[in-house]
Amino acid sequence: MANIVKDIAQLVGHTPLYEFARYGKKHDLKATVLGKLEYFNPSGSIKDRTALNMILDAEEKGLIKPGDTIVEDTSGNTGIGLAAFAANRGYKLKIFLEADQSIERRKILKAYGVDVKFTTDVPGLKEAKENGTFSLKLYQELIEDYCRKQDTKHFFTDQLSNESNPSVHYKYTGPEIWEDTDGKVDILVATAGTGGTITGLAKFLREKNPDVKIVAVQADINSRTGAGDHPKTIDGIAPFAGEGVKEECKAPFMASFDYDEYIDVSGTDAYATGLEIARTEGILLGQSASAAMHAARQVASRSENAGKNIVVILADNGMKYLSTQMYD
Ligand code: PMP
Repeated sequence: MANIVKDIAQLVGHTPLYEFARYGKKHDLKATVLGKLEYFNPSGSIKDRTALNMILDAEEKGLIKPGDTIVEDTSGNTGIGLAAFAANRGYKLKIFLEADQSIERRKILKAYGVDVKFTTDVPGLKEAKENGTFSLKLYQELIEDYCRKQDTKHFFTDQLSNESNPSVHYKYTGPEIWEDTDGKVDILVATAGTGGTITGLAKFLREKNPDVKIVAVQADINSRTGAGDHPKTIDGIAPFAGEGVKEECKAPFMASFDYDEYIDVSGTDAYATGLEIARTEGILLGQSASAAMHAARQVASRSENAGKNIVVILADNGMKYLSTQMYD
């Protein structure tokens, strides 16, 4: 039988590039918007690519073997990807989650047999946030310390600075986009969490065509904390530019990244876009994907972009957000 899948790793990548033609027509968009539907990956998000690549690279370097414990801190999707591949390849997995992530993430991780911890369990973290000494570096050191005390041996995949994260997009996601568009990509629109996706893709696309524009998307300042009258947050992404973003809190890949433009999107606009896309295209997007689509619509409506192709990265779908206000 020639066409049987024998390993879930074979299900990663080769995600479809979908033309949002109905949405484009409705808004009289000047450019064509092509969405890379990353929820087609086996555990449902773009982070399957990173999770698998980090495990494969660590195996290849002899750093892990089945039976070992893998550790990661994640807003959810990397954890879910790691959970699927850890189960499939025989690793134990400990995941540190922010307590405010959607409940589905927690339940999915537990379903895969993951040891789920909350960042609030990590000694020293709360104090660091309160006394202003918090940085991403300190955060990771505290998690490492905590794990060291609990496990005699563990491997921290460290998606924030592991080169296997951006490199998987350079090696696979970028070439997929290039092939599927016959090289006709003018603009890339993507959100950033670790920045692995956008920096890896930008490197590949700029090597192919230095004129490709890279548009990075973040949640606007009111939507980051869910505070005040903006309780609509955007899960999975982190701010990297503008007012109130401290250098030591930027993801390392983003801190040194040269994007052409960044766009702030509010949770309110992201959720409204998600709902509209569901009802126009029959595609149920996740929160960051909806934010990316909202930004892509702005870019596609500019007259200078008439006739251009915009590729927008749609990290996951809406199923993980049904407990949030998103599709209420
Ligand atoms: N969207 C969602 C829903 C995510 O989970 C992530 C990863 N945290 C991203 C976007 C950003 O991806 P990256 O870490 O590659 O920047």
